[in-house]
Amino acid sequence: MDSPPFDVVIAGCGPTGATLAAELRLHDVRVLVLEQDTEPASFVRIVGLHVRSLELMAMRDLLDRLLEHGRQRPAGGFFAAIPKPAPPDLDSAHAYLLGIPQPVVVRLLEDHAVALGAQVRHGAAVVDFEQDDDGVTVELAGGERLRTRYLVGCDGGRSTVRKLSGIGFPGEPSRTETLMGEMAATAPPAKIAAKVREVGETHRPFWLRPFGEGVYSVVVPADGVGDRATPPTLDDFRQQLRAVAGTDFGVHSPRWLSRFGDATRLAERYRAGRVLLAGDAAHIHPPTGGQGLNLGVQDAFNLGWKLAARIRGWAPGTLLDTYEAERRPVAEAVLDNTRAQMELTSPEPGPQAVRRLLTELMDFAEVNRHLIGKITAIDIRYDFGPGPDLLGRRLRDIDVKQGRLYDRLHRGRGLLLDRTERLGTGAWSDRVDHLPDPAAALDVPAVLLRPDGHVAWIGDDQRDLDDHLARWFGSPLR
Ligand SMILES: Cc1cc2nc3c(=O)[nH]c(=O)nc-3n(C[C@H](O)[C@H](O)[C@H](O)COP(=O)(O)OP(=O)(O)OC[C@H]3O[C@@H](n4cnc5c(N)ncnc54)[C@H](O)[C@@H]3O)c2cc1C
Repeated sequence: MDSPPFDVVIAGCGPTGATLAAELRLHDVRVLVLEQDTEPASFVRIVGLHVRSLELMAMRDLLDRLLEHGRQRPAGGFFAAIPKPAPPDLDSAHAYLLGIPQPVVVRLLEDHAVALGAQVRHGAAVVDFEQDDDGVTVELAGGERLRTRYLVGCDGGRSTVRKLSGIGFPGEPSRTETLMGEMAATAPPAKIAAKVREVGETHRPFWLRPFGEGVYSVVVPADGVGDRATPPTLDDFRQQLRAVAGTDFGVHSPRWLSRFGDATRLAERYRAGRVLLAGDAAHIHPPTGGQGLNLGVQDAFNLGWKLAARIRGWAPGTLLDTYEAERRPVAEAVLDNTRAQMELTSPEPGPQAVRRLLTELMDFAEVNRHLIGKITAIDIRYDFGPGPDLLGRRLRDIDVKQGRLYDRLHRGRGLLLDRTERLGTGAWSDRVDHLPDPAAALDVPAVLLRPDGHVAWIGDDQRDLDDHLARWFGSPLR
C-alpha cells in the first residue's frame, strides 16, 4: 500500500492543535491541520499564560513574541480568586502571569507552526474518520477524504474526533452559568472596591477586578440571561450587575464578553489506536484559575516528540502510551482543583467559611506555594520510578555556559546537561544534544532532559545513562 501523504492530521487549530503541529514539525513530521473556521475567532478573550507555559514558550524561542502582545501581571491571586500575592521565591525565571488575547496566542502559534512547515487548512471541518492497521482515512465536510498515519483531535470540548472514536467523556454537567468580560466603568474606583467587598460577602462568583486605566475584569452570575447559544451583550452584564449589586457601575466599552458553565469532564482514554486526543477535546472544566489553555498547550508539548518518535521509527515500545499515563492524571488534578475552587466561590455559608479559613492558611508560605504550584503547573512530577525529587520534574531555566538552559532546547531535542564533562550521548547524538558545563547552576552531576524539559535521568554513570537514553530515546544509531 502507498504511504499516506500525511503522517499526522490534526483536527482543530486552536492553541493545542497549533502547538502540536509546531512540535511535530521540529522532527520533520508531515503535518496537516484542519480547522473548521474560515476566519480567526472574533472574540478577544484575554487569557492568562501561567509560569509553566511561559517556560515552554521560552524553550521554543516564542516567549519574546508573546511578551510583545501581552501584559505581565503578578503570578498570585488566582486560586479561587483569593487575593494573596505569590510567594516571593517562586522557583522560576518566568515567575509572572501573561495576560494576552487568546486569538493572538493562536495566531502566533499557528504562524510558528507554518514557519516550521506545517500545512494549515481553514474552512475544513472533520466530519468522519475510519481507521485500519496502517492509518486513518479522514472525511471532511463536503466529502473530501484524506489519508494519514495518525489523527489527533484538538477540536475542543465538543470534539467530533472524540465522539466518533467512541471514547467516553464522563463527568458532571454544567450547574451554574457565569458571565465574564472586560470593560470600562465610570463609577469611582473606591466606590467599586467597597461595593465589590460588600456584595462579595453574599454573592459569588462576583467581582470587578481593576486592570488599570478604568478597565475591569467583570464576573457576575448569569442566572436568567438567555441561553448558551447566544453570546452575552453589554446590556446582559448591566442587568446582572444591577440585580446583584444594585448598580451597573456605569460599565461601557467592552473589550470582550463571554459566558461559561461549570461542566467538568475527562476523556476515559486519550488514545484509540491511531487516534489521539489533546486539549479541551480530552478535558473540560470551568475557567477558574485560568488553566484550560495552559493544560492543552502542555499536552501538546508532551505528545509532540513522542508521536514524532513513533513516526520517525525510533520510539521505544511504550513511549506513546506514556502520553496518557502522564497527562491524564495531570488533567484529573486540574479538574479537581477547579471543582474545589468552584465550591469556594459559592455564596453558601459553609463554603464561605472554608474560603475564609483557606484565605488565612494562605498566609503560610508552604500553603500558598502548594496552591500556586498547582495553578502554574510547576509542581508537576511525572512518575519515572524511584529517584531523587527532581526526577520527573521540569528543570527551571538556569544559567549555563554562554547563556540560558532553555536556549539550548529550541529544536525540541533531548539534552544531556553534564557537569562531569566525561559523559556522552554517543549513539543517540542524532536526537539528544550534549552540553558539558562544569559551572552549570545545578546541584547534581548531570541530568538528561526530555524535549519537554522534564528530567528523565540524574547521575554520573555512563552505563546507567545509556540505559536511560534507550528507555526514552529508543535504539541507538548503528
Ligand atoms: C471565559 C473563559 C476564560 C478562560 N480563561 C482562560 C485562561 O485565563 N487561561 C487558560 O489557560 N484557559 C482559559 N480558558 C480556557 C481556554 O479558552 C480553553 O481551554 C482553550 O481554548 C482550549 O484550547 P484547545 O485548542 O484545546 O481547544 P479550542 O480553543 O476549543 O480549539 C478547538 C479548535 O478546533 C476547531 N474545531 C472544532 N471542531 C472541529 C472539526 N470537526 N474540524 C476541524 N476543526 C474543528 C475549532 O474551530 C477551534 O478552532 C478560558 C475559557 C473561558 C470560557
